[in-house]
Amino acid sequence: MKIKIPLAKPYIDKEDRYGVDEVLRSGILSLGPRLKRFEQDFANYLGVKYACAVSSGTAGLHIAVKALGLKKGDEVITSPFSFIASSNCLLYEGVRPVLVDIEENTFNIDPKKIKKAITKRTKAILVVHVFGQSADMDPIIKIARKYKLKIIEDACESLGSSYKGKKTGTLGNVSVFAFYPNKQMTTGEGGMLTTNDNKIYELALSLRNQGRSLKNNRIVHERLGYNYRMDEMSASLGVTQLKKLDWMIKERKKIANLYFKHLSKIKNIIPPIIANYNSSSWFVYVIRITNGKKDKVMKYLINKGIETKNYLPPIHLQSFMKKWFGYKIGDYPITEKVASETLALPLFIGLKESDIKLVSQTLQNALSQ
Ligand SMILES: *Cc1c(COP(=O)(O)O)cnc(C)c1O
Repeated sequence: MKIKIPLAKPYIDKEDRYGVDEVLRSGILSLGPRLKRFEQDFANYLGVKYACAVSSGTAGLHIAVKALGLKKGDEVITSPFSFIASSNCLLYEGVRPVLVDIEENTFNIDPKKIKKAITKRTKAILVVHVFGQSADMDPIIKIARKYKLKIIEDACESLGSSYKGKKTGTLGNVSVFAFYPNKQMTTGEGGMLTTNDNKIYELALSLRNQGRSLKNNRIVHERLGYNYRMDEMSASLGVTQLKKLDWMIKERKKIANLYFKHLSKIKNIIPPIIANYNSSSWFVYVIRITNGKKDKVMKYLINKGIETKNYLPPIHLQSFMKKWFGYKIGDYPITEKVASETLALPLFIGLKESDIKLVSQTLQNALSQ
């Protein structure tokens, strides 16, 4: 069956296209004025001192891990219910991800379970704000202070969301955002590292550009670095997308509210639960199917041309993670229960109420089979 309603779609307008065209005409395709402009605008938007644009969210997370000086033998506490990049960025440096189970309602790391996972080797907590909703940061910050741990925020899914009125990505030592085409705003591929710490910022600038010295224009490499630069076409998209981000998030909220309205009467569905201290920016709209027939429901939707995805398979049950760390089914029961029930529904700007009605009706039909 051909897909009639996709899961996600970037919102690209005339201004975005014009900006990229202008870059192409200028002939400056990397390390030019758009990069600086995007970084400044982004730092202003968040209300932080520094922003360093990179080639992807994963690259940004890798740099964050390096810039904090994390290394082989260290441990970092993080969530098993996330996109794999939040653990991979640690594994690149030989750092061990120590997984801590999630809260059943918000799907985010459960602060009550963190203390038990701390050892002498624990150096940081890598918090993921999954699906656009912040983790419960106050207790996490308290633990981090007490045990002198750094906080990395993986805000790749939560741009524009807030925790107790404060924007996610401003609550830890270093934060990372991503601009893949299914995120709240896009640069094609791309990411952003943000921080208020000058040392982390300068290391990030050097690490993304082959470890080069920032002090002069000569080719001096002070450390092992990478090519994690963002090009000017992407940065231009970043500038024009960021201008309409608040509007785009408002539109996503409208769509989420329409789903809440149309799904409310359907049995065996748990719609997303947003904690009262949070405002979600709706990366994805993920529901739970509670009658044990998620796979059937997904197949049914796809057969009717409605795209859906399994958000998210547990990290600890990926084959290489099982092989490396000996994880098995039962290790993180809440994550496993949630993961066995969750699926994502189409959410993008331009999705109409009639589409949402169709998705809801199709779900109802699938569940009453
Ligand atoms: C999207 C995402 C990333 C980074 O993705 P890239 O594709 O590398 O830009 C990292 N962590 C999470 C939780 C994500 O959803």
